[in-house]
Amino acid sequence: MSDNYDVIVIGGGPAGYVAAIRAAQLGMKTACVEKWINKQDDPALGGTCLNVGCIPSKALLEATELYSVASHDFADMGIGVGNLTLDVPKMIARKDKIVRELTGGIASLFKSNKIDWLQGNGQLLADRQVKVTDHDGNEKSYAAENVIIATGSVPIELKATPLTDDIVVDSAGALDWEAVPDRVCVIGAGIIGLELGSVWRRTGSEVVLLEAQDAFLPMVDKAIAKEAQRTFAKQGLDIRLGTRVMKSDVRKGKVDVTFSDGDGEHVETFDKLIVAVGRRAFTDGVVSDESEVQLDERGLINVDDHCATNVPGVYAIGDVVRGPMLAHKGSEEGVMVAERIAGEHGSVNYDVMPNVIYTHPEVAWVGKTEEECDEEGIDYQVGSFPFAASGRAKAKGDTGGLVKILRDRSNDRLLGAHLIGPSASELLAQSVLAMEFDATIEDIAHTIHAHPTLSEAIHEAALGADGRAIHIANRKVPARKSA
Ligand code: FAD
Ligand code: AMP
Repeated sequence: MSDNYDVIVIGGGPAGYVAAIRAAQLGMKTACVEKWINKQDDPALGGTCLNVGCIPSKALLEATELYSVASHDFADMGIGVGNLTLDVPKMIARKDKIVRELTGGIASLFKSNKIDWLQGNGQLLADRQVKVTDHDGNEKSYAAENVIIATGSVPIELKATPLTDDIVVDSAGALDWEAVPDRVCVIGAGIIGLELGSVWRRTGSEVVLLEAQDAFLPMVDKAIAKEAQRTFAKQGLDIRLGTRVMKSDVRKGKVDVTFSDGDGEHVETFDKLIVAVGRRAFTDGVVSDESEVQLDERGLINVDDHCATNVPGVYAIGDVVRGPMLAHKGSEEGVMVAERIAGEHGSVNYDVMPNVIYTHPEVAWVGKTEEECDEEGIDYQVGSFPFAASGRAKAKGDTGGLVKILRDRSNDRLLGAHLIGPSASELLAQSVLAMEFDATIEDIAHTIHAHPTLSEAIHEAALGADGRAIHIANRKVPARKSA
C-alpha cells in the first residue's frame, strides 16, 4: 500500500464510500479511512446509513408492517393465519443479516474498484496529510492531492436524559431490542422518532412521543402533516405536542420521564426511552487546527455550493455539511466532488431533493410547499387526489392519504409534490424526475399511466390542477353548451 493518493476520503458512509467509488472510476488512486466497528466487533463500511440508520430501520419497518397487516387486515381479505406470532430475536437477526450483506457488499466494491480501505480513525493535518490511527493504536500518515471529509453525524444527546445500556437509548439502541417493551417513550416526534415509534407500536408496545414544538412535522406541507397526525393517532401513536422532556430517572429496570406541557409538570413511567432529538455533524478530532479547515457556528464544516472548504484541495460532503441529513444528498455530493476533482462539471440540484418518512402510510415530498410558495409570492394552483378514489389502493385495502401537486400558473411547471399514502416513497420518484426534467403539468397529464396503479393518483392530481380530473368531481364544471 503506497502512502500517496490522488484522493483520500475520511468516512465510509453513503457520502464517503460513493465519493471513493466515483473517484476510483475516474482513474484516481483512492483510499477511504473508516473506523466503524459493528455489533459483531468487525470493522465495517457503510456508516450510519447501512449499520444503524436507513437500512436497519427499514428492515424493521417492513417486518413489523407485514405483522401489522397480517394482524389487522388479512381477515377482511378472507385470509386466516391461525395463531399469528412474532419472533422478535429472529426479526432482529434478519435485520442484522441484511446489514452484514450490504456492508460486506461495499467492501467488495472497494476491492473491485481498487480502493484501499484504511481501517481506523482519520485526522486531517496540514497540507492534505491524513493521519490514520488503526484499531490497535498504531499511527501512520498518508499524503493526498485531495481530501474529502465525510465523517457524517451522530445522535444528539440530552444531558437530562443520559443514555444507559438498554433502557434509555438513542436511535441505534432502539434497533436491537430482543423483546417487545410494554411502554415506550420517544423524545422527539421527528422523522426518526416516528419511524422507530411505528416499529415498536406495530409489535404491540404502547408508544408515547413527546415533542417540544407545537407544530407537527413543521417541514411538511400542512395538509399532509395534518393527515399524518390524524392517521398516526388512529394507529395508537400517542403524540403529545408542546411537551418538553425535563429529565429521566432509571430505577428498578424502568425509567421515569419528567416532562412539562401546558398543564404543568408530570412524571410517567416507561420500560424504554428513545432519545430521538436530532443529529449533529461529527467533526470531533477530525480536522486538526493546523489543517485550517473552518467550521461554522453549529459545528458543520463550511463549504461552498460545490462542497469545497476554505482550504484548496479539501472538500466536505454529507451530514457533516449544510443541507438536509439524508443519505442520497451525501451520495450525490460525493459524486459531484469526485467529478469536479477529475476536472468534470459535477453538480447537485438541491432544489429537487426527495424526502421520505417511512411510516405507514409513507409521507414523501419534493420541492416547495404551499406555505413556501405563499412566502415567495408564487402564483400557484393545487391539484390533489385521494387514494380513496384509486382502484389499485382499494384493491390493496390501503386507501388512506392523498397526492397533492403544486403548479406554477406562470409557466405550468411542477413546483412541488406532496404525498401521504401507500408506497409514497416510490411514487415520489416520478415527480422528482419531472422536476429534474423541468416537465410541465401538461407533460404529466399527457403521460400514459398504467391502470390500475397507484401512480394514476399523480396523473389525476396533474389533471386536477387544470380542473379536468376524471375520477373525482372537479371544483369547477363549466356550464353545459345548449344544443
Ligand atoms: P455517516 O453515514 O454518518 O457516515 C460517516 C462515517 O464516517 C461513519 O461510518 C463513521 O464511522 C466515519 N467516521 C467519522 N469520523 C471518522 C474518522 N475520524 N475517521 C474515520 N472514519 C470516521 N437518510 C435517508 O436518506 N433515508 C432514510 O431512510 C434514513 N433513515 C435513517 C434512520 C435512522 C435511524 C438514522 C439514524 C438515520 C437515517 N437517515 C436516513 C440519515 C442517514 O443515515 C444519514 O443522512 C447518512 O448516513 C449520512 O451519510 P454520511 O456518509 O454523511 O455520514
Ligand atoms: P428531528 O430533528 O427531525 O430528528 O426531530 C427531533 C425533534 O426532537 C424535534 O422536533 C425537536 O423539537 C424535538 N426535541 C428536542 N428536544 C426535546 C425535548 N427536550 N423534549 C421534547 N422534544 C424535544
